[in-house]
Amino acid sequence: MLKVNNINVSYGDVQVLWDVSFEVPEGELVALLGANGAGKTTILNTISGLLRPHGGNIYFLQNEITRIPAYRVAEMGIAHVPEGRRLFPEMTVKENLEMGSLVPEAKKKRKETMEWVFSLFPILKDKQNQEAGTLSGGQQQMLAIGRGLMALPKLLMLDEPSLGLAPVLVNQVFEIVKEINQRGITVLLVEQNIMHALNMCTRAYVLENGRITLQGSGAELLNNQHVKEAYLGI
Ligand code: ATP
Repeated sequence: MLKVNNINVSYGDVQVLWDVSFEVPEGELVALLGANGAGKTTILNTISGLLRPHGGNIYFLQNEITRIPAYRVAEMGIAHVPEGRRLFPEMTVKENLEMGSLVPEAKKKRKETMEWVFSLFPILKDKQNQEAGTLSGGQQQMLAIGRGLMALPKLLMLDEPSLGLAPVLVNQVFEIVKEINQRGITVLLVEQNIMHALNMCTRAYVLENGRITLQGSGAELLNNQHVKEAYLGI
């Protein structure tokens, strides 16, 4: 579904991604793992069209999307739930969700999609008329994911959905991500919570200093000596 082919990305003179290649096959839940500053967010922003690579190509559903604008990438079916949620705090929960369905196809199905999002996150239904800024951190994360789903994406990209959440909420968010994937939405998950991500993904890539250094199934990487020592503290 998504093919990233040897991309190189820089901020000014500083190169942060080096020949990064990976694939996200349809239906899978793929994890992109790595420490702080490894380049994970840069990869998602490049796929979304917010940054331009100076080398390499990106393909989505056989179409090259490397240099097309972000709004077109969204229209083609990629939803990006950014790190830090980026909600509209003074708008209600419902209005935030509506902002997720501006793409024409999604707008037509807005009502039924919202019902689906409410079935995944009942708390959002209860608080639909409340301002988003008044929600707890966990509820805001749910709203950010819900807003991504409102676009009826083919590929959902999640940037560190567990960041800053209490452990019980981390489990809940990961369960919901699994359920979204089981409902047929392909997921690209960026995470620092390596153990959790490896336990639920179909395949994973490890990014170190802007380069992909390891790849495999979740089980393979859980058994990898370098992953155990560097990321799992085993
Ligand atoms: P984190 O988990 O902290 O978000 P990450 O793996 O997502 O880390 P990136 O945010 O992609 O990493 O950052 C990769 C590198 O690029 C880091 O060295 C970072 O300091 C640098 N960087 C990120 N954004 C910018 C920017 N706007 N201008 C300059 N350098 C940047």
